[in-house]
Amino acid sequence: MIKYNLTCKCNCTFDSWFASSGEFGRLMKKKLITCIECNSNNVSKSIMAPNVSSSKKIDKINYKFKKNIKKKIIEYQKFIKENCRYVGDRFAQEARSIHYDKKETKSIYGRVTTDEIDELNEEGIETITIPWYDKTEN
Ligand SMILES: [Zn+2]
Repeated sequence: MIKYNLTCKCNCTFDSWFASSGEFGRLMKKKLITCIECNSNNVSKSIMAPNVSSSKKIDKINYKFKKNIKKKIIEYQKFIKENCRYVGDRFAQEARSIHYDKKETKSIYGRVTTDEIDELNEEGIETITIPWYDKTEN
């Protein structure tokens, strides 16, 4: 079901439900849609009723959602930077040395490839991957 807001030449506007936009087009062609006030078939479709989400609205929601996620990730990044040691590209080696030597208790963070993550997981070394934003971005 789809709700359309219809406008008549007599300046009357009203909402009407249709099975689909195709059904609306079919009825429109046959001039079967008539005004509730003057009964003329001089009606046309105006803007969609607010309860039908437009793609623009969804885009806006998506944008806000992404923005919020990004904010959370940046907060998380800050926490990691403050509490973990940066090891750059040596992440896999450092993670192994922590896992096998058990000397260092401080967590580490750095860059790692997906292959390396797989290897680490196979060795029973836990890792967490989060999207990472560079400071230069935005
Ligand atoms: Zn009318």
